[in-house]
Order: sequence, then C-alpha cells, then structure tokens
Amino acid sequence: IVAIKYDISAAKQLQADLERLANTDELTGLYNRRQFLQRAQEEIARGQRWQRPLSLAMLDLDFFKRINDRFGHGFGDEVLRRFASCIQFNVRLEDVCGRLGGEEFAILLPDTDRYNAGLMMERVREAVEQLRLDNPLGGEAVRFTVSIGISELYPGEETPTPLIARADAALYLAKQEGRNCVRTG
Ligand code: GH3
Ligand code: MG
Ligand code: MG
Repeated sequence: IVAIKYDISAAKQLQADLERLANTDELTGLYNRRQFLQRAQEEIARGQRWQRPLSLAMLDLDFFKRINDRFGHGFGDEVLRRFASCIQFNVRLEDVCGRLGGEEFAILLPDTDRYNAGLMMERVREAVEQLRLDNPLGGEAVRFTVSIGISELYPGEETPTPLIARADAALYLAKQEGRNCVRTG
C-alpha cells in the first residue's frame, strides 16, 4: 500500500510539473499566451456572470530592439525577466500576468474598472522607470521604460478578442504619444 501511495503521489507530481511547463513562459515564469487567454476567458465569464468590472492592460517595452542591439540578446532576456518580476511585485495576487510573446505582456485586473486600472498601471510604469540594471559594458546603469494600453470589459462581451483589440489600440496611442505612458481606450 505504501508503494502504491508513493506511485500515485509521484504521478500527481509529474502531472503538476507537466501542467506548469505547458502553462508558463520559460523565460519569465509568467503565464504563456495560451494559458493567459484561457484565464482571460474564465475571468470574462465571471465578470459577466456577477456583473463585476474587469480590465485588461497590454504592456510593450519601449525601444527594446535597441537594448538587444546595444547589449546583446542575453542581456535583453535579463531585462525581460526583471520586467516580469517587477510587474508581478506591483500588482495584486488576484491579477493575472502573462507574456503574450516577445516583449509584449498583458495583465488582467479582476474587479477593477478602467479608472482604477489606470492608477495601478501608472504605478507599474513608474516602478519600471525606477529599475536599474548593471551595465554589461560597464558605465552607467541600464534603464528602460514601458508603454501601457488599458481596456475595460463591456456588458455582453463573452470573449477576450474585443477587449484585447481595445487595449492594443490604447497601447498604440501610448506609443504614438511619446511612449513611457499609460493610455485608456
Ligand atoms: P517600440 O518602442 O515601438 O515598441 O520599439 P521596439 O524596439 O520595442 O519594438 P520592436 O517590435 O521593433 O522590437 C521588439 C524586439 O524584441 C525585436 C526582437 O528582437 C526582440 N525580442 C523578441 N523576443 C525576444 C526575446 O525573447 N529575447 C530578447 N532578448 N529579445 C526579444
Ligand atoms: Mg512589440
Ligand atoms: Mg516594444
């Protein structure tokens, strides 16, 4: 019986490990795109069912290509990791952070309207602006900034697609209006 119990818990552990691997982005430990969209679908259903607000933030690092070009891809990866831990540190436990791909990230903010999402994301933007990384070439510390677009769920919307589209449009505005800023759609 002890041996069987051991086998079962080992199988459970293996299953948990596999799930984690399938759901998370290897570089940052955040949810990957697929799992983020899955969680978004769940949060949208919950928001509609209980008529609670839900906001989405899309985040894109500013001039990230320059960082790679100047300091190398490995350092670029380190920037992505530092950015990911910075956003996780600055949001609530119930907020859902994901890496959608490349240097694009997203945060779901349950029970949060776009006004309060704006306040929270302004805090994230400032925290990122304050980060300092050791310069791999020596000299002044490396800094970077992020642009953020926000959208809020409309009544009747049942999928993430329009929410993402509005946050993307707001992000595009943030980039156009000089970057390192938060815009709400
Ligand atoms: P913008 O301010 O307009 O967003 O400019 P940008 O340079 O950040 O935007 P662009 O989309 O031109 O460049 C994104 C770069 O991100 C290009 C690509 O090489 C880099 N990138 C994508 N994924 C990774 C990754 O996993 N690691 C590293 N180091 N770089 C990546
Ligand atoms: Mg980009
Ligand atoms: Mg970018």
